Amino acid sequence: MTNKIKDIVLLGSTGSVGCNVLDVVERYPDRFRVTAISSRANATLLKEQAEKFRPEKVVMGSDEGLTSLKDSLAGTSEVISGSGALEEIAAGAADIVFFAISGTAALKPLIAALKAGKTVALASKEPVVSAGMLIKEIAGESGARIIPVDSEHSAVMQCLAGRSSDEVKTLYLTGSGGPLKDRAADEFGSVTMEEVLAHPKWDMGRKITVDSATLMNKGLEVIEARWLFDVPEDRIKVVIHPEAIIHSMVEFVDGTVSACLFQPDMRFPILKALSYPDVVENDFPRLDFSEIKDLSFGSPDRKTFPALDLAFEALGKGGTYPAVLNGANEAAVSAFLDGKIAFTDIIKKVKEAITSHKAKKDPTLEDIIDSEKWAYEEVMRSC
Ligand code: MG
Repeated sequence: MTNKIKDIVLLGSTGSVGCNVLDVVERYPDRFRVTAISSRANATLLKEQAEKFRPEKVVMGSDEGLTSLKDSLAGTSEVISGSGALEEIAAGAADIVFFAISGTAALKPLIAALKAGKTVALASKEPVVSAGMLIKEIAGESGARIIPVDSEHSAVMQCLAGRSSDEVKTLYLTGSGGPLKDRAADEFGSVTMEEVLAHPKWDMGRKITVDSATLMNKGLEVIEARWLFDVPEDRIKVVIHPEAIIHSMVEFVDGTVSACLFQPDMRFPILKALSYPDVVENDFPRLDFSEIKDLSFGSPDRKTFPALDLAFEALGKGGTYPAVLNGANEAAVSAFLDGKIAFTDIIKKVKEAITSHKAKKDPTLEDIIDSEKWAYEEVMRSC
């Protein structure tokens, strides 16, 4: 291992992944230090985190609580806000820029970090969904590196262990099936928000938990995997694995399969990304094979969960379609969480947006941002 302490810029420190990142950082003061943190709207927790970790910069995404945050952190951290603040810290000095922001807000700062040639730990999947091809190009030009944090993609990275995508026959992305796995499709009209937000295996943010219930999360992950590992969509399969112990598998062309197993605890992929390529001892919960009775596998029910086919369709069509899928889904999930539409309307809205979209081939970054925004607003207007 290297002895230098890694400086980490953490975008989205008050969300579920962000809090887990700080938990990991706190355990390894001789390895990691946080030099910047950010929150969209949670000034109270951001202040607590800043007092504890003493980062040089703190970015607050809304005006609410901004003045008191500035007052209480005066002399210890520089508090910045406004458009461009996230880009500023994403492209600033750091050994790792950690993206733990959910939704499309991560795109511009991610592009800024990649253009600056940073090593990025990526928990935010949405930007890769919308702009995967461009992100690959920009990273290729600047020499920036992306280390995945999404548990499935962290698992794939570990299964691949540096082997080329030419040697991959199939990527198997596993999913627990989400909170509605055992419900019949004709009951979906009446599911409540509480049922949707009660994920059986993972304790996560609200957006991703709703995405897990529709299986859109897995659809977004398929698109994410396509770009992160350079494997075309016909070699990516989704497997339902309710125990959530195998986090993904890679079948190589010679017929051998590697799988990566760990307890469903995000600190494993977070520590992996922060310490990569080192292997670091930890005291996180372990798998006990004398306790595990079954590892079961099944195919997703694509009729009941049409999000998966929709994601494959958007990926196959390419251009601005994945950005529309992403923007429309974000709006529909937000409308559902605000009680404006029913659970069953979420994927309907996404489908409508994709159908009425006039796509652009070979889109620029502006085209992608415009399409994402168009889809978001189109869905919001209809809710
Ligand atoms: Mg995941």
